[in-house]
Amino acid sequence: MSTLFEKIINREIPADIVYEDEISLAFKDINPQAPTHILIIPKKPIEKLSDANIEDQALLGHLMLVAGKIAEQLNLDNTFRIIINNGAGAGQSVFHLHLHLMSGRPLSWPPG
Ligand code: AMP
Repeated sequence: MSTLFEKIINREIPADIVYEDEISLAFKDINPQAPTHILIIPKKPIEKLSDANIEDQALLGHLMLVAGKIAEQLNLDNTFRIIINNGAGAGQSVFHLHLHLMSGRPLSWPPG
């Protein structure tokens, strides 16, 4: 069964897409937790970071670089946070790997 994010990749459900290339897709989070809250996903369906393997090394690096590129395009002034929730206990609710890119408000540490 395909996840919500696969449906967004396949344009079966709408999303506010901000970036796309052959490997990845980025769109606005539907329930933003910061003024800027973008999700960056691989098109390859990897359930969670801990399921990635050595074959995914370049893909994981690509997602990080895309995050940096989007941050630059959105003029985030080099001030943002990247979060990956891995597993339900860590807050993961959609089981298709995704990076949260958040910015635009003070981000406390440690995160909750
Ligand atoms: P996580 O809890 O780390 O798995 O993050 C999943 C994120 O997906 C949450 O921040 C949700 O608000 C977001 N989300 C769920 N459904 C959609 C959707 N249809 N479009 C955009 N973002 C979504």
